[in-house]
Amino acid sequence: MRGLFLLVWTLMALPLIGQEPEPKPKPKVVASASMFADMAEVIGGNLIEVQMIVPIGGDPHIYEPTPADAQMVARANLVLRNGLTFEGWIDELVENSGFDGTISTITEGVEAISSEEYENSADPHAWMSARNGLIYLRNIRDALVTLAPEYAEEFNFNYQIYRQQLEDLDIWIEETLAAIPRHKRILITSHDAFRYFGQRYGVRVEAVLGTSTDADVQTSDIRRLNRVLQESEVPAVFIESTINPKLLQVLAKDNQVVIGGSLYADSLGEKDSSGGTYLGMLEHNARTIVEGLSRERSQIEEQETEETPVQQIVLFGVILLLMAGSFFFMVYKLNTGA
Ligand SMILES: [Zn+2]
Repeated sequence: MRGLFLLVWTLMALPLIGQEPEPKPKPKVVASASMFADMAEVIGGNLIEVQMIVPIGGDPHIYEPTPADAQMVARANLVLRNGLTFEGWIDELVENSGFDGTISTITEGVEAISSEEYENSADPHAWMSARNGLIYLRNIRDALVTLAPEYAEEFNFNYQIYRQQLEDLDIWIEETLAAIPRHKRILITSHDAFRYFGQRYGVRVEAVLGTSTDADVQTSDIRRLNRVLQESEVPAVFIESTINPKLLQVLAKDNQVVIGGSLYADSLGEKDSSGGTYLGMLEHNARTIVEGLSRERSQIEEQETEETPVQQIVLFGVILLLMAGSFFFMVYKLNTGA
C-alpha cells in the first residue's frame, strides 16, 4: 500500500520537476475591525495578507458574522482582536470556523477603563487614545514577528516609523485640543466611545448610548444631555459614522446647538476619506472636535435669524403664486361663462 502511494505521489510530482518553485504563500492575518486591519497592514507591508471581518462603516458591537467570515477565519494564520468585550461574537466565530492559528488580543497591556453601565466589564474603545494606540502597534508587531520570524527585520522597520508617527500625532492632538476654551471642553456624541480619548486629552465626555451600542436609549439619558447643554456653553454635538444620527439631531435642535461634524470611533472611513486610516481617523476627530467646540453659541443663533428672511421670501412667493393662480382662474371662468 505504501509503495503504491509513493508511486502515485512521484507520478503526480513529475510534471513539477524543472518548473519554477511556487511563490511562498503570504501569512494571512484577519482583524476584527478596520482600525486594527489598517495597523497590521502598515506594519506587515506587502509581506502579509490582511483582511477584516466587520466591513467599513459596520458596527462591531452588534455585528453578526456570516458564513463567508467563517471561511475567511478558517484560512487565516493569525486573528487580531481588540478584546475588552468589543467583539462579543468573535470567540464563537473562531471556534466554529475550525481555525487552527493564533489569536492575539491587541489590548494586552492597556490600562482598561471599567464600563459604567456593566459590572465587571471594561470599556473597549482603548484605540481612541493615540497613547494606547502605541500599545496596539507593539502587540501587533510582536504577533507578526511570532507568525513570520523570517520577516522580523522588515516588520520592526515599519513599526519604528509608524510608532514615531503615532507619537507625534499624540502630541499634536494634545496641543490642538488645548485650544478649546476650558468651559466648552465637553464632547457629546452618539455612544460612549471617547472615554480613553477624554482621559488622555482632558475632555469631559457625555454620550446618548453607553459603551456598547447594543442597548435602547433611556429617557433619563436624554434628560441628562439636555441638562448638560443647558448648563454649559457647549456649542456643538457630534454624530458618529457608524450610528444613526437622528437622536443627536433632535438634541441639537432642541438646544439650539449645531452638529459639529461626524466622528470615527468603531470603524475607519472609506479609503479615500480623511478617516481612511487609523492615523487619519484620529487626526480627523481632533480637527472636527476643535472646530466644533471653538464656535460661539451666539453665532448659531445669528445663523438661524439670518435664515428667517429667506423663509419669509419663500412664503411670500407662494402666496403671490396662489393669488395669481386664482386671479387667472376667475378670469378664465368669467370668459367661459360669458
Ligand atoms: Zn463602540
